[in-house]
Amino acid sequence: MEAKENTHFIHEIVEEDIRTGKHDGAVHTRFPPEPNGHLHIGHAKAICLDFGTAIKYKGKCNLRFDDTNPSKEETAYVDGIRADVHWLGFDWEDREYYASDYFDQLYDYAVQLIKKGKAFVCDLSGEEVRAYRGTLTEPGKPSPWRDRSIEENLDLFTRMKAGEFPEGSHTLRAKIDMNSPNVHNRDPVIYRIMYAHHHRTGDKWCIYPMYDFTHCISDSIERITHSFCTLEFEVHRYLYDWFLDELEVFHPQQIEFARLNLTYTVMSKRKLLKLVEDKIVDGWNDPRMPTVSGLRRRGYTPESIRDFCDRIGLAKRESMVDLALLEHCLRTDLNARALRYMAVLNPVKVIIDNYPADKEEYFTAVNNPENPEDGTREVPFSRELYIERDDFMEDAPKKFYRLSVGREVRLRYAYFITCESIVKNEAGEITEIHCTYDPASSGGNSPDGRKVKATLHWVSAVHAFEAEVRHFDNLLTVANPAESDLDFLELINANSKEILSNCKLEPALRELTAETRVQFERIGYYCVDNVDSKPGKPVFNRTVGLRDEWSRIQKRN
Ligand code: ATP
Ligand code: MG
Repeated sequence: MEAKENTHFIHEIVEEDIRTGKHDGAVHTRFPPEPNGHLHIGHAKAICLDFGTAIKYKGKCNLRFDDTNPSKEETAYVDGIRADVHWLGFDWEDREYYASDYFDQLYDYAVQLIKKGKAFVCDLSGEEVRAYRGTLTEPGKPSPWRDRSIEENLDLFTRMKAGEFPEGSHTLRAKIDMNSPNVHNRDPVIYRIMYAHHHRTGDKWCIYPMYDFTHCISDSIERITHSFCTLEFEVHRYLYDWFLDELEVFHPQQIEFARLNLTYTVMSKRKLLKLVEDKIVDGWNDPRMPTVSGLRRRGYTPESIRDFCDRIGLAKRESMVDLALLEHCLRTDLNARALRYMAVLNPVKVIIDNYPADKEEYFTAVNNPENPEDGTREVPFSRELYIERDDFMEDAPKKFYRLSVGREVRLRYAYFITCESIVKNEAGEITEIHCTYDPASSGGNSPDGRKVKATLHWVSAVHAFEAEVRHFDNLLTVANPAESDLDFLELINANSKEILSNCKLEPALRELTAETRVQFERIGYYCVDNVDSKPGKPVFNRTVGLRDEWSRIQKRN
């Protein structure tokens, strides 16, 4: 992958470090997911920063699973995260690490802190620890167990590890400062008892290190030079520094940046998990989900997501990014690459009365006007066709330029046709539109310079195949759920998925393989679903429409 040129405050820091020879000019980053859910577009921003920085400065980036919480972690998440990072286009080579691989070392470090008089075993319950901690405005109260002797602490910690105590009865806590204005520094818990099976260490441990203790030490063990994280970790920085200083180990530099927030999007694993568990969506990879696997299934390209992450840049201040920008990046990429086809989603039959019933001919269609190298294909034509129901109007006003009785339009690549009459069923629905064609307009070219105001897409009825096409809308009814007093579950759009089951598609679409992205002419971009499609029986997901909301927004401003 090419290194990107644009720069931001983080790269300025990195460049300064390289210039001054800090870490001998080395740049070593990591992406540290907790395997307790699948990755979303916010993680993609972090991934692009972590891996992108390593690429730009010819350094390295590790993939490290911060797997400290056995109760919420699953191997399936690990596999999904690996697949997602690869799909986004990044590679960690042989540097796949797990915080759980450091459990022995972390235990030794904890013992070291006890021996220094910097950690103690506390018998307060979780609830009591919270009550003693104080609040933002009130100082904390020291634990009655804070001044245990080093010997007693060592003995108790060893027995915690040996499984002598029940869950919740003891914790190991750092001895920092109960009066600190920062509550994170008020003697935080660093080890807890948990009789839980861990996805990698099995039943070896019944005590587990807390995230804060583990994360900064894992970075140190891996000799991470620049440790990027989101702003909420700024208040943890003192604590991380404290651990690393007390243990006298390698000290990575933490740099915080604002997380990505997107309009109409929930962006927290906890909430996304809720959507999955409550079956509001069909799994983590539902095309409406902002997960990497959902975006992939929807038809997003890794290139468009990387382009988006590039354009939003990095800042220290929280902001809300317009979903239209993400869609703009996608559309720009697909416009250049997606092959065009004809598909009729809401069909009505057209019969060309003066076209021979047994005749069939083929017209040459351009696959991608943006790229001549994509060539052409032959599209079959015959007497009976389908067009979009919307492209016909019975009592058409003057401004309606498409088909109506007595009006002439072009069928793309084929002929000029004129509507002569319509047939309706008992319910009053139009069932047939009868037309005549001008044989002199073959290929859709005007025979005598006469103009038509509309060009319609169509498919030949006998040659078309039927397919399911799925349309999606935003999962949320409001742009910024954080501004609402309602719980996000009450802001769910109940009509975010629509299944069109009677679509008529041109035959060339039949053999497309999963994840192929195409443009249905005049309609939008679509992608072959990677779960429900079968060979010769593709299901299509609407990726994004043709109209570029972002350009409109830009023009307005
Ligand atoms: P969530 O907030 O969705 O539950 P998380 O922060 O718990 O996510 P982690 O697995 O800990 O998820 O995240 C891995 C990395 O991704 C962290 O460095 C985190 O800061 C970063 N990250 C998570 N969400 C975002 C976001 N919305 N924008 C940018 N980076 C993010
Ligand atoms: Mg986290």
